[in-house]
Amino acid sequence: MIRSIGIALLMVVCTGAQQSVGPIPRQTILAELVAANRILANEGVMDSYGHVSMRDPGNPGSFFLSRDIPPGNVSAADILQYDLDGNAIAAGNASSYSERFIHSEIYRARPDVMAVVHAHSQEVIPFAATGIPLQPLFHMAAFLGVGIPVFDPRDAGSSGDLSVRSPAMGKSLAATLGAKPGLLMRGHGMVLVGPSLHVAVARSYYMNANAQLQVQSAQLGGTSKVHYLDADETMKASPVDNYERAWAWWKQRAEKGK
Ligand SMILES: [Zn+2]
Repeated sequence: MIRSIGIALLMVVCTGAQQSVGPIPRQTILAELVAANRILANEGVMDSYGHVSMRDPGNPGSFFLSRDIPPGNVSAADILQYDLDGNAIAAGNASSYSERFIHSEIYRARPDVMAVVHAHSQEVIPFAATGIPLQPLFHMAAFLGVGIPVFDPRDAGSSGDLSVRSPAMGKSLAATLGAKPGLLMRGHGMVLVGPSLHVAVARSYYMNANAQLQVQSAQLGGTSKVHYLDADETMKASPVDNYERAWAWWKQRAEKGK
């Protein structure tokens, strides 16, 4: 039963936001999002900050996102539903993440995106700071080969706090993202998107891993000697299971607290 729900959910989130979907219990969607929060915290992609959301497959004009708490503490009761203006539906007294407009404006601009991750990953900060592009070093991060743009809050009219706290800033970030799988935020962190929640989470994990490997490779051999995946490898090397094995393993680890 659980396996069939998982497969159905995977099929739904991979079909795209515009498509009508069959009934998926709300509690199943919330459980997936709780698992994503716990995984990202447990695997060190997020610390006490950062957030992950999932578009509502049955109502593509809305998405699910936790209230303003650390991702490692998120439970189903903490998850709110938002419209694409970033307004929480029936939030009560719960406070929202100030950067929820990252999510709302990406969902508005990208009908193909079913999940969004925003993290303050220290591993990627040097790349946006120096302008050295992230490039794929191994097959698990082949998606980086299409190029990862850098969003500079100053260019979007930031007053200097480096955060995306308005729909206008969110629109600017979504425009920088374009059709890419993710971007770097100078002086802040990163955003990854995906056609499913599992893929968005995995891209976050493996972008961090690739950033670490790229720094190590440069230290070993100098940037001119590093062999990155070429264009052909970038197209062919993505995991055939869309990271499903990784998701199952990370979820098991998170549930065991290790
Ligand atoms: Zn942030």
